[in-house]
Amino acid sequence: MTADSNECTPNIAPAGIRRRRRLGFQLAGVSIAAVGAGMIVRAPWFARTAVFLPAAVAAIGFLQASRNTCILRAHEGTLEHDGDPPLFACRICGHVSADKAYCPDCLADTMEPQPRPR
Ligand SMILES: [Zn+2]
Repeated sequence: MTADSNECTPNIAPAGIRRRRRLGFQLAGVSIAAVGAGMIVRAPWFARTAVFLPAAVAAIGFLQASRNTCILRAHEGTLEHDGDPPLFACRICGHVSADKAYCPDCLADTMEPQPRPR
């Protein structure tokens, strides 16, 4: 077993993994900027503790993406895209969404109807 192996059954779709990883990078950037700003303006220690929230959410996003597991979905016992199946899929990236106007990932109007499973 290597550090990269993950034998868990994923409960999030590839789009959800990408979304969590993107959120992790965004909030890690916010955390780094907040640390820098706190040092530049010499903010008091209690103001600098505000860095904890974005850093913690970024870590949760990275952990969920690396383990292919959403904590909330695991708690609910459901899979992402469970229940009523999405109706449209992106022709470019394969993102599945109920929104037919545009793909939330690549922001292109490349959504096409997807047949319902079952
Ligand atoms: Zn797309």
